[in-house]
Amino acid sequence: MRRISIFGATGSIGQNTLDLIGRDREAYQIVALTGGQNVAQLAADAKRFNAELAVTADPARLADLRSALAGTGIEAAAGPSALLDAASRPADWVMSCIVGSAGLAPGLRALEQGASLALANKESMVCAGPLMLATARAHDATILPVDSEHSAVFQALIGEDIATVERVIITASGGAFRDWPLADLAKATPEQAAQHPNWDMGQRITIDSASMFNKALELIETKEFFQIDPSRIEAVVHPESMIHALVGFTDGALMAHVGPPDMRHAIGFALHYPDRKSLPVERLDLVALGQFTFRSADETRWPALRLARGVMATGGLSGAVFNAAKERALDGFIDKRIGFQQIASVVEEVLSRVSAQQGHIDADITLDNVMNADHLARVRADEIMTELEG
Ligand code: NAD
Ligand code: MG
Repeated sequence: MRRISIFGATGSIGQNTLDLIGRDREAYQIVALTGGQNVAQLAADAKRFNAELAVTADPARLADLRSALAGTGIEAAAGPSALLDAASRPADWVMSCIVGSAGLAPGLRALEQGASLALANKESMVCAGPLMLATARAHDATILPVDSEHSAVFQALIGEDIATVERVIITASGGAFRDWPLADLAKATPEQAAQHPNWDMGQRITIDSASMFNKALELIETKEFFQIDPSRIEAVVHPESMIHALVGFTDGALMAHVGPPDMRHAIGFALHYPDRKSLPVERLDLVALGQFTFRSADETRWPALRLARGVMATGGLSGAVFNAAKERALDGFIDKRIGFQQIASVVEEVLSRVSAQQGHIDADITLDNVMNADHLARVRADEIMTELEG
């Protein structure tokens, strides 16, 4: 039996992962499941899968988790250090699907145990790509991409020589506002931004799709994961979300990964890697689909893409600053402190203020330095949002 842990089990990716595991229950032993506020879901899944341990990120929810698990023999724990303890437990395969930079430390800890880390938490690569790769190398661990675009690129690269890659194109649906006139974006609400045209995902990544910050993070993730020069990485809007990424080679061939917008493909690919097994995803009927279309990913409409280019050029801790500033600005938009288009302005201003402070961007990429940069960026983002309100 393969030993499996899921960090962020109660979320969208976590639930899709459990859906796959539940179809072949006998093949897996669940070590740890973790969640946040939703301890009822966490406890129900821990019982259903007979997990060894359930951890809520929020210490205030520990009593509820304990009482929900009373008499089951399943351990309960809470808080960031309990998450790290859970990540220290030996497991063969660990799903990293916490949302935000909070997913970085548990993922690193799992790599230190030599686990295969299925990485949905793109923020880990954006904030600390070199640290993630070095930790995996040092502990003979494997990182498998779960972001659909990166799983697609990974699959297109199997058996290929990376030196023959001319370009990588990742696709974007364009999000909730792709057809809105630019002039209307200032009035866009969080409720409207949380309606994704094609994918069913968590609230935060869905809003990030509308602002294109999700694609911005993914451009950086592509650079860090595959060590590809940023000049070779492109994003293109593909409203149907059927082609997830394309890899162009020196002979002019373009290998596309095509499939329905269902995360269980990328999760299942990482779960069974290096094998391929049957997965419960729709088989596409190309004639019924009729056509695939593409549009330019306009950096005026979506300034997040322009900011990502700057981050890729700067490197160092700028990814950590960019991500944390985006996380706080997104909180500000959800809480209606700032407007939709101000998300990017806040992030740009945080990058400029933090860069102006000596030593904050070019420090070594250690976990401590990343978390310090993350903290500083959040403080600056709050300052800027207060200025905007005042
Ligand atoms: P979600 O909001 O549905 O779930 C997030 C999970 O993280 C929940 O279990 C939540 O309890 C937990 N969590 C939240 N804050 C936490 C904290 N501070 N500490 C510990 N745990 C915390 O999110 P999601 O849509 O499943 O996305 C998860 C990750 O996967 C994100 O990094 C996202 O970018 C990435 N991703 C998601 C999709 C998708 O289809 N949903 C696709 C590609 C990549
Ligand atoms: Mg993606």
